[in-house]
Amino acid sequence: MTTQVKHYIDGEFTTGNGQQVIEVTNPANNDVIAQINCATADEVAQAISSAKAAFTTWKEVPVSERARVMLRYQHLLKEHHDEIATILAKETGKTFEDAKGDVWRGIEVAEHACNVASLLMGETVENVARNIDTYSYTQPLGVCAGITPFNFPAMIPLWMFPLAIACGNTFILKPSEQDPMTPQRLVELFVEAGAPKGVLQLIHGDKTAVDTLLTDPAIKAISFVGSVNVGQYIYKTGTDNLKRVQAFAGAKNHCVIMPDANKQQVINNLVGASVGAAGQRCMAISVAVFVGKAKEWIPELKAALANVRPGLWDDKDAAYGPVISPAAKARVLSLIEQGIEEGADCLLNGSDFTVTGYESGNWVGPTMFANVTPEMSIYKEEIFGPVLCCMQADDLDEAIELVNNSPYGNGTSIFTASGGAARKYQHHIEVGQVGINVPIPVPLPFFSFTGWKGSFYGDQHAYGKQAVRFYTETKTITSRWFDDSVVSGPNMSINLK
Ligand code: NAD
Repeated sequence: MTTQVKHYIDGEFTTGNGQQVIEVTNPANNDVIAQINCATADEVAQAISSAKAAFTTWKEVPVSERARVMLRYQHLLKEHHDEIATILAKETGKTFEDAKGDVWRGIEVAEHACNVASLLMGETVENVARNIDTYSYTQPLGVCAGITPFNFPAMIPLWMFPLAIACGNTFILKPSEQDPMTPQRLVELFVEAGAPKGVLQLIHGDKTAVDTLLTDPAIKAISFVGSVNVGQYIYKTGTDNLKRVQAFAGAKNHCVIMPDANKQQVINNLVGASVGAAGQRCMAISVAVFVGKAKEWIPELKAALANVRPGLWDDKDAAYGPVISPAAKARVLSLIEQGIEEGADCLLNGSDFTVTGYESGNWVGPTMFANVTPEMSIYKEEIFGPVLCCMQADDLDEAIELVNNSPYGNGTSIFTASGGAARKYQHHIEVGQVGINVPIPVPLPFFSFTGWKGSFYGDQHAYGKQAVRFYTETKTITSRWFDDSVVSGPNMSINLK
């Protein structure tokens, strides 16, 4: 029997009444593993109204009690770590090791949310004028919503709801319809951690559900992570509807390789960062820029990539799994085809790769192009598959110019033995997250996830102090307690006296 995916609305898990059905498939063979009855407009409205009602009481719960829910939650997530990773691996096709990483990077954010009291602290200045003190508080916004992508079904929901809720908001999560069972398990554990009814709601569906969240006046803030076109749509529609929006979008991440770098480190790091997770990471390295003589390492990189073997989630020797859907695979193959037609050198082509017994799965073998130029589709488009594009630059300045001309700015890295080159790169590069001899520089949650340019629309980023600002309002209080022995006359100016 096919598993029915559950919504969590007004404190009840329900399979819902929606007539529109989406099938969840195993990317390794496209068998149907679950079914979603998409939330109807009424069900979304019910979730919003329940979250609105819950806000009136949740915001009054002392911050230390809210933190205790997060403490129990992060503990439960750790207890169920491997179980969540198994659900995740089965519905995404990720290898078990990689699935565990997805869960763990989310747990780190839930851990950080336990520290919410310190994160919420305002500022104080005594005696801003005679007998007058000014201090600020951070207060929650109300009902917030999160719309998340398929590629990190544990980590990205956990970027959002634990911190938003710890700040005193209530939250509606609309996860990707392609892998909804991991988020469902995250929500079940949150309920087990003692979150009161209505504080967190889970609705499944597609554009219809999202559009209701974007337009309903009760929703105060929208966090989105996904592709660039949808990100722009969410940002424009959400802000047109007077909401606070943070929209994390697509990417094209470059790794610059200087000839003084350690060759073997470069090769090993590029292999993992380019085709790991089948290239379906927003921080994957999809472009390697070889500076000067470093281009001589391209044949060895090709040999290393040729040794990478995709496989099933529970195959311990598999390096990565299938891409998420037949549509995703068709898109990747079409871009590989365009790369060849447009004149790039296809050194490795994984288009025909398959796994015996799983021939109907969405497999793409490691693929590598050399002599890629900025006009080519494989450079301009986010491929989101296990495809590495290699380019060349005469010197560091040329490499920096190339990276800065990209419309995206999520992540980048430089491999070098020179502090001077690294310092120059980190200073001049117009990208929000920079790795120095670190290929995928995703910051831990005491920092924020700070994509730039076409990879992010908004102001305050995910997790860390910026997310606390995103999910709260600042209230500034100017207070005077009269010293009754001194009575001053009327003050006719705006100056504080
Ligand atoms: P997607 O944009 O297709 O879907 C993301 C979410 O938006 C899903 O919940 C989906 O149901 C919803 N959605 C899809 N189309 C919609 C529409 N027309 N209107 C309203 N809602 C819609 O993205 P995806 O394929 O699930 O995820 C992969 C993308 O996410 C890649 O582009 C990747 O770079 C990006 N991503 C970015 C970051 C980042 O931090 N910048 C992190 C992870 C993933």
